[in-house]
Amino acid sequence: MTEGKLFVISGPSGAGKGTICKRLLESDENIRLSVSMTTRQPREGEVESVDYFFVEREAFERLLQEGGLLEHNQYCENYYGTPRAQIVQWLREGYNIILEIDYHGAFQVRDSYPDCVLIFIMPPSIEELEARITGRGTESDEAKQKRLQEALGEIAQSDQYDYIVVNDDLDAAVERVREIMHKEEEYVISINQ
Ligand code: 5GP
Repeated sequence: MTEGKLFVISGPSGAGKGTICKRLLESDENIRLSVSMTTRQPREGEVESVDYFFVEREAFERLLQEGGLLEHNQYCENYYGTPRAQIVQWLREGYNIILEIDYHGAFQVRDSYPDCVLIFIMPPSIEELEARITGRGTESDEAKQKRLQEALGEIAQSDQYDYIVVNDDLDAAVERVREIMHKEEEYVISINQ
């Protein structure tokens, strides 16, 4: 059986990468979405083990020390990381896996899996990004400002990615990412034959 492939999808908070990933998952049975672990508090509507594994700092640090995380990062005072075991198993089972993580994590994943594919979701403009971040309404002004700063730092790293997809139209952006995944998958199948 052909091993699955890792697709890392990054982009600033508010660029729409969560929605894009959700649409990709719904339309392809061979895709799995890695569920990250975080020490941040759940937002309203977020579900344990679906959106994240929400854990205490000690539990996160323990797993990190045991080598149980493929990558991790600290963002706005919270830890985020990708549990390794599920990824290894899914790849073996032939699934393509999407990791929705930031650029720090993306580059760590590339160190472990050099043939992973890095895709950056770009908001159409800084003004639009600002509107999307402040429009979310679930956080304080200070937290929003911090997210905006993080977003600008994230965009500065986009030239390190294999692909940049501008999300000015959701359907078109989903289609573009789907095309990239198919193209990269065909490449793997052809070199394995
Ligand atoms: P949020 O708090 O909005 O869910 O996520 C904040 C940031 O953390 C986003 O840029 C998101 O992509 C990133 N993130 C989520 N999960 C992970 C992870 O497992 N590892 C890393 N490195 N970043 C993550």
